[in-house]
Amino acid sequence: MNKLAARISQVNPSITLTITAKAKTMKAEGLDVCSFSAGEPDFDTPNHIKLAAKQALDQGKTKYGAAAGEIGLRQAIANKLKKDNNLDYKPENIIVTNGGKHSLYNLMMALIEEGDEVIIPAPYWLSYPEMVTLAGGKSVIVTTTAEHHYKITPEQLKQAITSKTKLFVLNSPSNPTGSVYSPSEIKALAQVIIDHDILVVSDEIYEKILYDDTTHLSIGAVNEEIFKRTIISNGFAKAYSMTGWRVGYIAGDINLIKAMTTVQGHSTSNVCTFAQYGAIAALESSQECVEEMLVSFTQRRKVMYSAVKSIPNVSTTLPQGAFYLFIDISKTGLKSLEFCDKLLTQEQVAVIPGIAFGDDNCIRLSYATDMVSIEKGMTRLGNFIQSL
Ligand code: GLU
Repeated sequence: MNKLAARISQVNPSITLTITAKAKTMKAEGLDVCSFSAGEPDFDTPNHIKLAAKQALDQGKTKYGAAAGEIGLRQAIANKLKKDNNLDYKPENIIVTNGGKHSLYNLMMALIEEGDEVIIPAPYWLSYPEMVTLAGGKSVIVTTTAEHHYKITPEQLKQAITSKTKLFVLNSPSNPTGSVYSPSEIKALAQVIIDHDILVVSDEIYEKILYDDTTHLSIGAVNEEIFKRTIISNGFAKAYSMTGWRVGYIAGDINLIKAMTTVQGHSTSNVCTFAQYGAIAALESSQECVEEMLVSFTQRRKVMYSAVKSIPNVSTTLPQGAFYLFIDISKTGLKSLEFCDKLLTQEQVAVIPGIAFGDDNCIRLSYATDMVSIEKGMTRLGNFIQSL
């Protein structure tokens, strides 16, 4: 087939999904694979959430709904944004989407056009630049460093802004680095955004996964001026272990939400109706399940981090949020794709090459997996690096 749209030649398939699928196939073939690929909590979705969706099914919540989402869920999200993030949104400011990824895709489709620039700090989650490209915009990648905990500085942001800049993508806690911007860093970035009158999308999907005394400040809560320029993206996948449910949301200016609803109304329509009732239960019931999962992530982070620290020729920073370890492998002499290919073939350990996130010197490991795999996988990683 040589008649594909030109835009397709400008984007790559999702490496996170490709490697995860490959690891699953190898496991199904009977191989003893340790997979640290997709950022997918290994826990089952908490029972009360499943029960709410089952009840919704029994009550016949099986029909088309409003394209922007069930009003009950949009209200529950508005309540959550007020309670957790001190953000004042009405249900009309919220659209429910097929997961966080779809939120961001719809946003780019509604907002970005030919000639628009979108500033993305690297390392970045791999789908951000691809979505910008699909929408016809241009990603302006700003490289951050391990010394700076992979965080963009206000100065760097300022320098990247041009007359064409429309949007800045902020992701804290970050996938793939686990960095978290402190409240004062968020305030300083907010000032630059206000001064230059650009928009910011704050991807807060990992906001509940924070370690030690780290806090999360939602940038829109800093003041009225930044609130007007902020778009919040979030979802249920990571905090409630609901990856396969595909429920996410965006909150922002009412005209933007209307535009996104138009895009959604001509593409997917509403998110699976009964799944939305599970999401309401997730927000409105006890948050104990979130805390329990965090206890496990905290233990896993400790074990994986200290194992990696004991391996020569690699280095990493202690993540303050999310569930990823971003490891510098440059001293091994291999680039990230070759490293990951060899590691998978020789030791059956699946990890994601940093090149997918804009840093070819690194690899990303997800520790949202069981402790047995972590211990076994770290021994194999150590053996592999020694063999090089
Ligand atoms: N967001 C997760 C990750 O980075 C899931 C896979 C994906 O959607 O890219 O691994």
